[in-house]
Amino acid sequence: ISMFWSPILNLSNFYNQLITNIAGAERIFEILDTPPDIVDDSNVIALPDVKGDIRFDHVSFSYDEETLILDDVNFSVKAGETIALVGPTGAGKSTIVNLISRFYDIQKGNIYVDNYNLKEVSIESLRQQMGVMTQDNFLFSGTIKENIRYGRLDATDEEIIEAAKTVNAHDFIMKLEKGYDTELKERGNGLSIGQRQLLAFARTMVSKPKILILDEATSSIDTQTELLVQEGIEALLKGRTSFVIAHRLSTIQKADRIFVIDNGNIQEQGSAKELLEKKGIYYNLHMAQFKNI
Ligand code: ADP
Repeated sequence: ISMFWSPILNLSNFYNQLITNIAGAERIFEILDTPPDIVDDSNVIALPDVKGDIRFDHVSFSYDEETLILDDVNFSVKAGETIALVGPTGAGKSTIVNLISRFYDIQKGNIYVDNYNLKEVSIESLRQQMGVMTQDNFLFSGTIKENIRYGRLDATDEEIIEAAKTVNAHDFIMKLEKGYDTELKERGNGLSIGQRQLLAFARTMVSKPKILILDEATSSIDTQTELLVQEGIEALLKGRTSFVIAHRLSTIQKADRIFVIDNGNIQEQGSAKELLEKKGIYYNLHMAQFKNI
């Protein structure tokens, strides 16, 4: 079933249109109006291959140096864990994931990947190990193959097809007259929303990120595609540290942990079952949104 936490959990703007492995995405950053540039400190090192542990240690953050958006946030996520972020619009969910990709610098505290402080590693080396998927799938005019390969420019055709299979994109691609060589129009016009999502999944899959950030789309798609998308998401999350700004009940239920974000902090955390039993904020959100399921 396709169910979304909107309008209660409606998404705010995230990285606008960008959907890609961020590494090597300068081209897209040039095209789109994206967050301000953060520059490397003078003595940064390249982040070695990480497992994907993430830790927020007393993190406080403000966009304008005045209004505190995150106030002393603390959490540890183990490599491979899936975290679903839920909570009202404006709660700070996007801000938290933006900080993991280091789109902004924090005013207080530290963020660690494995045991590397984000401030002490080069931004490029961090983003090479991350995949970011937003609501609007950024597809460019070019073939389907080229669009998928954008996730990792040295991916072979076999790897592209393998990735597409894993996320359920292969079947619809093969039904197109020219298969992987089908030319897409600007922004993927001509494909359904669900198909665009599956292509975006394939692109991320091919990039094999250790850390994945997914801003789950809220647009409704037909039931059949919805199932493919759900499975695609599951394939994508498997084996990597994932933060999902989640709208689908299925994603929320399958997450290892849910963080309920409100007022710039984690108000509750636990599995869906634990949080329902607790009868707190999550329980109320769930009842308001999903009681008819
Ligand atoms: P959520 O993702 O939970 O909807 P956000 O992290 O987008 O919440 O927003 C948290 C707060 O930060 C909101 O009050 C929002 O208005 C503010 N905010 C978000 N992005 C910016 C920005 N680029 N500049 C200033 N304030 C922002």
